[in-house]
Amino acid sequence: MSRKPLIAGNWKMNNTKTETIKFLESFLPKAKGLSVDIVICPPFTNLFVAAEKLEGTDVKLGAQNMHWEDKGAFTGEVSPVMLKEIPCDYVIIGHSERRQYFAETDETVNKKIKSALQHDLLPIVCVGESLAQREEGITMSWIMSQVENALKDISSQELEKIVFAYEPIWAIGTGKTASAADAQEVISAIRKKIAQMYCSDTAEKVRILYGGSVKPENIKELMQEADIDGALVGGASLKPDSFYALCTFN
Ligand code: PGA
Repeated sequence: MSRKPLIAGNWKMNNTKTETIKFLESFLPKAKGLSVDIVICPPFTNLFVAAEKLEGTDVKLGAQNMHWEDKGAFTGEVSPVMLKEIPCDYVIIGHSERRQYFAETDETVNKKIKSALQHDLLPIVCVGESLAQREEGITMSWIMSQVENALKDISSQELEKIVFAYEPIWAIGTGKTASAADAQEVISAIRKKIAQMYCSDTAEKVRILYGGSVKPENIKELMQEADIDGALVGGASLKPDSFYALCTFN
């Protein structure tokens, strides 16, 4: 089963509207006919201008978060209906920064995944362990419970639309990448878990990315691993040249 690689740029709280336009005017002319799927996830305020620039290109647009309700009294939140109308294609769900600083739980992650799927948004679901958990030797059990809880009441048809991203928290923004072998070990375990919960055919279709200090210098090694289907990139996705280098790793 060959899965098309996906490279997603998570800009986090970086790049103004002006900087977004500048990035896309530099990146898009080069990003034609590449053999990977590309997703750019700017802050909410830049989604609309990014969508205008991306129209007619192969590059997809993603949001970094959403609420699970369609509308209502949720000050400061953005709904899937609003994202779909932009239009966004993807939405990152359960990033460790959201779990850590904004009290997201496995339960809210599961609600958001279901809501995204209902609105035809493709979820990029993040899981990952802290340094303390890795040192304690509980990485696998922690990640498997995050996966299991994320997929509660999700059908196998729905699962095929989900992308997972394994992002060890200790590797995010720290310059410390997990070794390709360590990332492969966890990602292949996630695939086995999905096979147990559903079936191996479905598990073989699901794309699982690695994230955490991915840069042009280390992406090739990561992508050589059998189960790593792409990257969710923070810092190195902010400049058009380095993001382009990531999208052309092969
Ligand atoms: P990083 O972030 O590439 O800057 O480590 C990755 C992420 O948080 O998605």
